Amino acid sequence: MKAHIDLDKCSGHARCYQVDPDLFDIDASGYALRAEVDLPSDAEAKGHEAVAACPERAIALVR
Ligand code: SF4
Repeated sequence: MKAHIDLDKCSGHARCYQVDPDLFDIDASGYALRAEVDLPSDAEAKGHEAVAACPERAIALVR
């Protein structure tokens, strides 16, 4: 599974980073850096958490 992040929607809340800093990179201002994040099978729950945590609905999970 992958997490796609719409960087145009991202508003720098850094909530995805707070869910898992090893998966979601942010810049110094709190904006997501990568538009695509690989989610190993043991990290899929973290992907769902990040989707729920993002107030901009910028994160989508794809198979
Ligand atoms: S939680 Fe959403 S808005 Fe915040 S940094 Fe992550 S992708 Fe961007």
